[in-house]
Amino acid sequence: MSNSLNFPPRLDLAQRNTPLIPLRRLSSTLGGPTIWLKRDDLTDMLASGNKLRKLEFALAQAKQQGADTILTYGGVQSNHCRATAIVGARLGLQVHLLLRGDNPGNADGNLLLSHLCGARIQHISYRAFKNDLPDITEQIKKRYNSQEHKVYDLALGASDAVGLWGYIDCARELEQDCQKNGIKADHILCATGSGGTLGGLIIGNATFNLGAQVWGVNVCDNAEYFQQKIDEDFSQWKQQYKPSLDSKSLAIDIIEGYVGPGYAKADASVFSTIRQVAELEGIIFDPVYTGKAFHALLTEIEKGERFKNAKNIIFVHTGGLFGLFPQKENFLNQYS
Ligand SMILES: *Cc1c(COP(=O)(O)O)cnc(C)c1O
Repeated sequence: MSNSLNFPPRLDLAQRNTPLIPLRRLSSTLGGPTIWLKRDDLTDMLASGNKLRKLEFALAQAKQQGADTILTYGGVQSNHCRATAIVGARLGLQVHLLLRGDNPGNADGNLLLSHLCGARIQHISYRAFKNDLPDITEQIKKRYNSQEHKVYDLALGASDAVGLWGYIDCARELEQDCQKNGIKADHILCATGSGGTLGGLIIGNATFNLGAQVWGVNVCDNAEYFQQKIDEDFSQWKQQYKPSLDSKSLAIDIIEGYVGPGYAKADASVFSTIRQVAELEGIIFDPVYTGKAFHALLTEIEKGERFKNAKNIIFVHTGGLFGLFPQKENFLNQYS
């Protein structure tokens, strides 16, 4: 039976539908399942990636509430902050970014683009980001309020109840994509950094009867952290939108063990996977999210357990290209 959902208001910001394409050369090299890419790196040129799908719903909510200023959070090379800064400029909204870590001095990649689009950028220490964020946020809101501005507090990665709709809707697209290509997806994978993409795909997979097993590859923290975080987002979502779907019964499956040296730090194997896919397919992954998660997928296929009987696996290319440039040393060294 199909569950129907009532989608909340959305802004039309992303290029849709994004293509679903098979990686034929890579898949035959592996001799295993056919790997398909959902090209969410093509949701836009500048605001590209998965965050744009979530922003369509989150910023619709912000506008509904009469906000003229968006406050949000991330790492120094946050794709989410860059997408918010760009879309904010397009919508005439002021964007204020709280970035974890020092100002690197010369802006590159995502930071450069956020800067160019006029975002107010405030760098705060790792310690303060971890411990004092609510206080800092409160002060910033007070300051804007006293200047007659209304702030919308946008969740980290836009991963909260409203943000879930972005990837619920992507799963709806995937149902059509699979039908058009005459395939059934056995598995769907994505990189997981704040949980909203995975959470949305899990709900969407159940709602639109894709019948796939949905996996997140965590690029920071661990499985337990994300299971808890996504579970909380599901509860909030249930409360706010009162869907008929029983989200409590849905499995939250994480493939652990691929964080490597840490968030936004990858080891050589990830960089060589990025190069391999680029050479074979003309597709570029980034070292923070998609490269790590895709490396996990290839490694798990080689191990031959989890994906042993799979025919078709969909990997959601969530974007992240601009995060590659600040890490270019990892490629140039191999040529010098
Ligand atoms: C943020 C991000 C992710 C992770 O998505 P979440 O919904 O935050 O888990 C994956 N890939 C890229 C390129 C991202 O920017």
